[in-house]
Amino acid sequence: MGGSSPCASCKLLRRRCTKGCIFAPFFPADEPHKFAIVHKVFGASNVSKMLQEIPFHQRADAASSLVYEASARMRDPVYGCVGAISYLQNQVSQLQMQLAIAQAEILCMQMQQGGPCPPPNAPTRTRSRHPSPIIATSRASPAS
Ligand SMILES: [Zn+2]
Repeated sequence: MGGSSPCASCKLLRRRCTKGCIFAPFFPADEPHKFAIVHKVFGASNVSKMLQEIPFHQRADAASSLVYEASARMRDPVYGCVGAISYLQNQVSQLQMQLAIAQAEILCMQMQQGGPCPPPNAPTRTRSRHPSPIIATSRASPAS
């Protein structure tokens, strides 16, 4: 960027945009909201430090992920990105459970060739985590 039009960062910070401005390649003047939100959440000097610690070819990705994180933090001040992550993790585990149920039903149909299957949510296994001492000792003798 030449000195004629400062990048979005330098414009917001009211400073001269030099030729080696760290923000200029990633925060162009025509998208001022991107730097504004990143500056509000992380602070300009922190963003500058973070970008400086990253190799140049990865800075564009870092800048856009910072924008994403900052806007998530603005939308959800409590959980930010973590809110989206935990929502998606919940969905994954629910879908994995549905998949396991469907696979169990398929297996059951294959084994019984159309015979009756127990409903998938029925408590077929009753595992007692704390067996009584009587059961525990009777387990020791496998005979009968
Ligand atoms: Zn600049």
